[in-house]
Amino acid sequence: MVVPATSVDTLAYVRALIRNVPDFPKPGIIFKDITPLLADPKGFHIVIDSLSERFIGEHIDAIVGIESRGFIFGGALAARLNASFVPVRKTGRLPAAVDRVTYDLEYGSAELEMHKHSIHEGAKVLVVDDLLATGGTASATAQLVRRQGGYVASFAFVIELDFLAGRERLMPVPVVSLLHYAMTE
Ligand code: AMP
Repeated sequence: MVVPATSVDTLAYVRALIRNVPDFPKPGIIFKDITPLLADPKGFHIVIDSLSERFIGEHIDAIVGIESRGFIFGGALAARLNASFVPVRKTGRLPAAVDRVTYDLEYGSAELEMHKHSIHEGAKVLVVDDLLATGGTASATAQLVRRQGGYVASFAFVIELDFLAGRERLMPVPVVSLLHYAMTE
């Protein structure tokens, strides 16, 4: 199957595969459920084509995917871009020695871990997740990458919640997002 380069039509096709689930995981949150997108081969194909085409020729050495939905898109992108894939996980899930970062949530804090020596000194890294909200998770992941001597060349997301301004928190690193949402969408 030949999928055309990203266009308004192909992005509208993907957008129609994102399901809003109100009040999950808590009241007031509209959860963007990507499982209908994953279930649709054409939609998933468009996402991976559209994201990878932005980075072809950029010589990305490693893709760092954020648990858990960042693994799905990051893994496919790594294979496409001929880059290594490095998982960043929640506390206690990686088996060997880790670097750890603690970051603030709306209430309390959270931790992320990456295996030590995952990133080569000076490696050009793309950080991937399914969705950019406040940017706290992606920013913490970038800290882990930099601690290991990596250079965060860009962030890539399928969905960006524009009204939470996560992009500003990630500046000056470029942010590539396929779909943009306003608060009421
Ligand atoms: P943040 O750190 O605020 O940018 O949150 C991003 C992380 O939380 C990503 O791993 C997302 O998968 C998840 N997330 C935040 N808000 C939503 C939402 N409305 N729908 C689905 N996932 C979300």
